[in-house]
Amino acid sequence: MCGIVGYVGLQSAGPILLEGLQRLEYRGYDSSGIAVVDRDGAIAVMKREGKLRTLQAAISEMPSGGTGIGHTRWATHGQPSDRNAHPHASSSGDVIVVQNGIVENYRELRAELQQQLDAEGRSWQSETDTEVIPELISRELAAGRSIESALGYAIGRLRGANAIAVVHRSQPDRIYAARTGSAGGIVIGYGDGEMFLASDLPALLPHTTTVYHLEDGDLAVVDSESLTIRRADREPYEPTPVQIDLDPVAIARGPYRHFMLKEIHEQPRALSDTIRGRARLDPPSALADDFDLPESTLRGIERVLVIGMGTSLHAAMIGRWWIEQIAGIPADFDNASEFRFRAPLLGPSTLVVAVTQSGETIDTLGAMNQVRERWGAPQVVITNVDGSEATRQADAAIIMRCGPEVGVASTKTFVASLASLYLLACRIGHAQGRLTDDDLTVQLEQLLTAPSLVERGIARAERCSEVAQRFSESSNFLVLGRGIEYALAMEAALKCKEISYVHAEGYAAGEMKHGPIALLDQGFPVIALAPRGPLFDKMTSAIQQVSARRAPVIAIGDEGDEELSDLVDHFIGVPPAPAPLTPFSLTPVIQLLAYQIALTRGLDIDQPRNLAKTVTVE
Ligand code: GLU
Repeated sequence: MCGIVGYVGLQSAGPILLEGLQRLEYRGYDSSGIAVVDRDGAIAVMKREGKLRTLQAAISEMPSGGTGIGHTRWATHGQPSDRNAHPHASSSGDVIVVQNGIVENYRELRAELQQQLDAEGRSWQSETDTEVIPELISRELAAGRSIESALGYAIGRLRGANAIAVVHRSQPDRIYAARTGSAGGIVIGYGDGEMFLASDLPALLPHTTTVYHLEDGDLAVVDSESLTIRRADREPYEPTPVQIDLDPVAIARGPYRHFMLKEIHEQPRALSDTIRGRARLDPPSALADDFDLPESTLRGIERVLVIGMGTSLHAAMIGRWWIEQIAGIPADFDNASEFRFRAPLLGPSTLVVAVTQSGETIDTLGAMNQVRERWGAPQVVITNVDGSEATRQADAAIIMRCGPEVGVASTKTFVASLASLYLLACRIGHAQGRLTDDDLTVQLEQLLTAPSLVERGIARAERCSEVAQRFSESSNFLVLGRGIEYALAMEAALKCKEISYVHAEGYAAGEMKHGPIALLDQGFPVIALAPRGPLFDKMTSAIQQVSARRAPVIAIGDEGDEELSDLVDHFIGVPPAPAPLTPFSLTPVIQLLAYQIALTRGLDIDQPRNLAKTVTVE
């Protein structure tokens, strides 16, 4: 989680680091800090508990120096406090480190280093796992190693997934960085006589679009002119950077009050871009071009397993449904963090589809790794970040074209991952001959209406706001759906939890009688997802059962459905959609409801408490 930034060049590092941290605050925001080194090797470390603005307010005089690193934290070890905020220094004060990840064996390493600290009358300055890293490096330097060698040694001692950036007093014009165990990314940005470093692209975009993504096992030495990679398995080399095609405007909030709202509104565009060129009608084809899974592999698939976490898991549930219905082959979904620690039975003819917005979700990467090592099954990743670790692990990737998603609660990447799964289902069904050209045409024509369904759903914002205001004081919601809408009920409940801090349960409507109905009374509102479709009558029976317990019902159904609106207390109409496409018509409304509840409650929507985007720790 957490955001790391770095700068080395002729400008003053401090303001650049703070601006970079601001752009990465979605990755963690319980404390932040910077370390700036001046030409003579004097290091100033400034850090504060709380959001970045607390740090900014505390800096009365910007430290001088053209080299520095910064961090915005999502605490894993040690509560948020000034003391636990990064950067962390060695007891000698020479080595300064920021870290993303967890040092799993930090207790063991602390115990090992303790004797030396005791002998010198020194003590640990924080409760974090991080602090062992500068201490290890500093001890090895004192024993005569070079910085690169000490860093390589220290990294080799850490268990777990970690990304770090380091500065050292004796090298005031360099930053060092390393990445191990599929920790969240580190990207190096190339400027003109200056170099940048960040966990994620938004911090680099205002400065450069020429970048290099560090790979696992890379140890990077960055000065103002160059990046050198050192690895255990080859001679040091200067890697070739790539040009990224992203507009800095994509990361600006523009006229919107929150990034989440901006990204909800960007959904029709994100969907159209993701589908463009991948759903062709004449002749019909799905994912014909930029998709690398060989036709023979596609033809041989006997089962599909879709994995993900959080919102991506809900996309996986819907993907399973489409793969069964459209491609006509057995499919399942799994939570990546559970999958990893079971003994699932896969074979080489199972296709594993991993959905991960960032391409760096640690549990999903762990599951992909296991799939490769144990079964050698083919893998497809659906992600918004080209060049991310997941794209390197998978045999083929479907890159969503959403642009950076900054709001912590995923919105546009949810609908774009759905479109990607739909296309994949079409491609598999066609490759296996279960979908004729005509069937494929029908499916693709349907998919092409998705952007407009989403757009019309977004147009219901005002109605969502009215309903949200009416229920903004409720502390519980039950969200019911059946079939494909069950997954959306789960997603709606997740959104309520994430940004509105409302306890909400997503349930399969048929399951309600088996427990949750006991909770219902006048003060327990129920949101029912009830578009017209094969299970509509069963949904209305569930609604009757809820109403009989006097729980208020908010139904989201087809525009103009008077029968449904007469049955319930509050009704929000969405554009009618063919059965498999209801996720596109319903999603904006469930997002907007959660958004409006959070807004009415005055919550911090883009940075909800305890959460961070890009979950790179277990
Ligand atoms: N484990 C470190 C800490 O708790 C880093 C967490 C992060 O990735 O933000 O400070």
